[in-house]
Amino acid sequence: MDQDRDPQSAERCAAAHIDDPTPCHGPHDAVTILDGTGNADTGCEHHGARMLASIDGARIEPGSVVGAATRAFAASQAIRPFCWYETAPRTEPSQLSRAENARRA
Ligand SMILES: [Zn+2]
Repeated sequence: MDQDRDPQSAERCAAAHIDDPTPCHGPHDAVTILDGTGNADTGCEHHGARMLASIDGARIEPGSVVGAATRAFAASQAIRPFCWYETAPRTEPSQLSRAENARRA
């Protein structure tokens, strides 16, 4: 979480995890992600969805792009937590996407 970063000048949005190599998709303030502990970051739709999938208790709110928060929320359901760690074990519920856990239930 880096609330001091200027979303217009940053190379990637504030929601991009440092170990996630993917580029931003769209404006860096398309959505706002609240981590459930009082921190908020703006992010692009792509990284907003990934952050939402990775943080337990996180919420997403609209940013500068109409509909982006809704799309990011929908996308986050099928994204595994910290999906950029491609060699991580994926057996525990906390390591699987919400959609995968819903199918197992
Ligand atoms: Zn981004």
